[in-house]
Amino acid sequence: MQNNDLSLLKELGLKLTPQRLAIIEYLKGNKNHPSAEEIYNALKGRFPSMSFATVYNTLEVLVEKGLIKELNIDSSKKRFDPFTHPHHHFICKACGKIVDVEAPFEIFIPEFLRDFQVEDFQVVFTGVCPECKKRITHKSPFLTERGSLFFSLYPVIN
Ligand code: ZN
Ligand code: MN
Repeated sequence: MQNNDLSLLKELGLKLTPQRLAIIEYLKGNKNHPSAEEIYNALKGRFPSMSFATVYNTLEVLVEKGLIKELNIDSSKKRFDPFTHPHHHFICKACGKIVDVEAPFEIFIPEFLRDFQVEDFQVVFTGVCPECKKRITHKSPFLTERGSLFFSLYPVIN
């Protein structure tokens, strides 16, 4: 999302209510790939009358207008990314953290897709982040931020 997006939003006919501006402000430069719930929880203190639907609908409009990206790599909830340039992601299986992977990858379009118009691709790395990795050194499960027990399927090398 760029600074001139506000004028663009106006041109696109999106009514810029204080709530919507706060959502846009929250997303700008945000590298945490927040979910709609996280955005709602972060802002409801400032806007007690704001509904979850307002947050969700605003996010949908921003995605539709191409100003943010919707990520479907977390099976528990949609996540949103204000950085729309092509980049890749790592998702931690334990805490659900998503971090950007900016390294370029050379991908050869498979032959069977030659009649398709391929517009985008994304590499998703999955595994355990350094913080969670520290917690599984004793080979015992731990309770994740998401309230479930996490067992690593693989031996942890430290
Ligand atoms: Zn983690
Ligand atoms: Mn990202």
